[in-house]
Amino acid sequence: MCPQNESYNLKFDYIIAGLGISGVWLSHYLLKENKKVIVFDKKNLQSASNVASGLVNPVTGRRVVTTWLADELLPFCKNEYTSLGEELCIQAITQKNILVFPSAPDLQNAFDNRMKENNSYIHPPQLSRQELSLHFNFPFNVYEISPCYVIHIQDILVSQRQHLNKENVLIDEMLDENLIEFKDGYVQYKGYTADKIIFANGISASKSKFWNGLPFVENKGQALIVEIKDMDANYIYKFGHLSLIPLAQNKWWVGSSNELSFKTTEPTDDFKNKTIATLKAVLKNDFSLLDHWASLRPATVERRPFIGLHPLYPQIAILNGMGSKGCSLTPWFAKQLTGKLINGSSIDTTADVQRFAKILSRQ
Ligand SMILES: Cc1cc2nc3c(=O)[nH]c(=O)nc-3n(C[C@H](O)[C@H](O)[C@H](O)COP(=O)(O)OP(=O)(O)OC[C@H]3O[C@@H](n4cnc5c(N)ncnc54)[C@H](O)[C@@H]3O)c2cc1C
Repeated sequence: MCPQNESYNLKFDYIIAGLGISGVWLSHYLLKENKKVIVFDKKNLQSASNVASGLVNPVTGRRVVTTWLADELLPFCKNEYTSLGEELCIQAITQKNILVFPSAPDLQNAFDNRMKENNSYIHPPQLSRQELSLHFNFPFNVYEISPCYVIHIQDILVSQRQHLNKENVLIDEMLDENLIEFKDGYVQYKGYTADKIIFANGISASKSKFWNGLPFVENKGQALIVEIKDMDANYIYKFGHLSLIPLAQNKWWVGSSNELSFKTTEPTDDFKNKTIATLKAVLKNDFSLLDHWASLRPATVERRPFIGLHPLYPQIAILNGMGSKGCSLTPWFAKQLTGKLINGSSIDTTADVQRFAKILSRQ
């Protein structure tokens, strides 16, 4: 525990580095447990969380498989985001099912096979082929994935930031890990002391001297923000790897790429031109380009997150590696990490960073 010495006047239970969706959920759960928390984060509109579309989708890939933990995560996300929204006085989650337009016969077959196997998330569409033909060009059958959710992630980031600011527990700067001093059972950072520092700093952790042994993958994603008039915004539309996700009236998020090798982290003309060409091919409605975003997802080699305490330095912990599933995985694992920090309860072993204890102990 931190020393109760008067010379340390800025005493906290936890310091959190990063206020993307991971930092949002961790600060939320720790504050709910009446813990004294301070968050460091310099506002960064290019963070993965700020660029994400916020989709929670239980089905993935060309083989159309149910995603890891989907049966648990979907109802959990619905509850948790609904109550977070109520606390922040915003709409944090909306159910919007996905209409999938397969681009090739093998994908259509995969959907048909899953329906035959009674996959509970895949259904025939509620809209008729005739209705869909008014807006889209499509050669194959259409399928509906349900339930799916859109997390209003940018609104959540803004509101949690405002909330922490109001409580005077947000420092608008980056935490410099070189200034962390490890003491017996606590940490000191500049004038602040805390029991622990938790790194929720997205892909930056891959360069951290404490965490760079973890098998992170930088996965670049790009999206266009597009105005499309008169398209039914009750649905998400998916053509190959491109999803069209409604953000606001007539404003759509269109993405994304999954780039594992890239020359620049900035938006590229190549992505823009290919995406516009696909939109022209599939959309009957006119559209116009409003913006173009890019960011790096904090992905991992085995596609499982990094959660828990550092094996060498028990005063630091991590909540990271959410890859392309940050919206659904983060509340679940932030809650597990909160349990670990407060009661010593266990973390799912496939996500617990202790699986890399050997690598992390080589400092
Ligand atoms: C194009 C694109 C589309 C995506 N779509 C979806 C989607 O539909 N659904 C989904 O679930 N996921 C999606 N993702 C993935 C999702 O964005 C990530 O999984 C998630 O946002 C990761 O959140 P995070 O808080 O861990 O990291 P980040 O969002 O990267 O946040 C980390 C924060 O830490 C800050 N930081 C960094 N270093 C420090 C430091 N030293 N001190 C203090 N602060 C620091 C950063 O500035 C940032 O604010 C998408 C990602 C991209 C790029």
